[in-house]
Amino acid sequence: MYNPQSLRAEEFINHAEILDTLEYARAHKNDTSLLSEILAKAARRKGLNHREAAVLLLCEDDAVTEQMNRLARQIKLDFYGSRIVIFAPLYLSNYCVNGCTYCPYHAKNKHISRKKLSQEDIVREVTALQDMGHKRLAIEAGEDPLHNPISYILECIDTIYHIHHKNGAIRRVNVNIAATTEEEYHMLKEAGIGTYILFQETYHKESYEKLHPTGPKHNYDYHTEAMDRAMAGGIDDVGLGVLFGLENYPYELVGLLMHAEHLEAVHGVGPHTISIPRIKKAEDINPDDFDNGISDDIFAKICALIRISVPYTGMIISTRESQAVRERLLPLGISQISGGSRTSVGGYDIPETPDDNSAQFDVSDRRSLDEVVRWLMEMDYIPSFCTACYRAGRTGDRFMALCKSGQIQNCCHPNALITLQEFLADYASPETRALGQEVLKRQLLEIPNENVRAKTETYLREILQGARDFRF
Ligand code: SAM
Repeated sequence: MYNPQSLRAEEFINHAEILDTLEYARAHKNDTSLLSEILAKAARRKGLNHREAAVLLLCEDDAVTEQMNRLARQIKLDFYGSRIVIFAPLYLSNYCVNGCTYCPYHAKNKHISRKKLSQEDIVREVTALQDMGHKRLAIEAGEDPLHNPISYILECIDTIYHIHHKNGAIRRVNVNIAATTEEEYHMLKEAGIGTYILFQETYHKESYEKLHPTGPKHNYDYHTEAMDRAMAGGIDDVGLGVLFGLENYPYELVGLLMHAEHLEAVHGVGPHTISIPRIKKAEDINPDDFDNGISDDIFAKICALIRISVPYTGMIISTRESQAVRERLLPLGISQISGGSRTSVGGYDIPETPDDNSAQFDVSDRRSLDEVVRWLMEMDYIPSFCTACYRAGRTGDRFMALCKSGQIQNCCHPNALITLQEFLADYASPETRALGQEVLKRQLLEIPNENVRAKTETYLREILQGARDFRF
């Protein structure tokens, strides 16, 4: 039976409820008065539940999609302004005991070269990332209790936080590793991680079990209930995601929103972020083998729908997507992107060569971080390297409270400007720097509180004279 408050996967991601929702959505997708009611609710910025979102998703009327897009753009501006937070993934190890049929790390793949970073390698990799200007990393690893036990992950996190660089340390490490125990989540919390990210891959249990035929990841319930164990272990920022292309997208979107509703119902706080990866070509993997691929149009619709359904949740798009697709999705609600990414183990220190096949998937956007920063500013976004909330303890419901209070413009906005100024001073090319100074001058005026504005102006000046790490 469907019960969002239950801690049992089969009750909070209830198959019968998803099927019923989709049937309801099919029956009502042309019901104009219901569609207007749902859009009006979304316009009040209170979010939508999975049933309401499903009706909009299945509606094929272009005028409705256009209205959704308009709302998504407005909600994104109201809650996130024009800031885009930048991060980079860091692949620690591609050893894996699982059999995920879409992932090149799968245990039976004998062509891939298996690699695991030593602590010395990590220093080199992270230094290369710091040399580009990154302050926020997402560490990634396959699941292998022998090669990548929790002690290895914890050691890596500790190494990363303690690397001294002339321009300052890595300030936030997010973690994307396989589902684990409450005790191990507690250890990750104690190690000072930012968000714990785990993609569900698919919410459809039967498909999930086929796509994960062997290894610990085969256990759907254990995987689906992971965020509850993470929260019980003290991690209050968790990141959800679906790997689009594995199952049919309406099922996935309903499941994803049910998961968010469940976290809110049980823990009082929804997901911190939602990632929307699409399956990509990789060593031993051909995306055409999976028949649920989605077009760019549907992808954009899903993005806008997530934005209006969960207005306070950040949304992440990686370099799996091309520059053109990223440009299309950014205004529809994306708040974080990766830049200058390498998806092979050790790929930052020693650039990937054509015969290096250790990458997790092909990267579509291969531009440098400087190019990504300039490109964002050319489109009127503010690239942000901010990590202030996490460092000030504004996580979980405290972050959501800030978001809901409307004080973001006096807090996140100046923090974005401060961290952008650091990037411009320490890393940017002359062209990026010149454009950045214009952006800062203009955006300073957008800080509503006079005192905060004056203080930010002082910080921006002092950064040019060598000071670092100011924050509100
Ligand atoms: N091993 C951890 C786990 O099981 O969750 C971390 C996973 S992996 C390093 C990060 C994510 O990459 C996976 O959750 C999956 O969604 C995604 N991924 C795997 N193969 C992919 C492919 N061929 N194309 C795009 N994304 C892929």
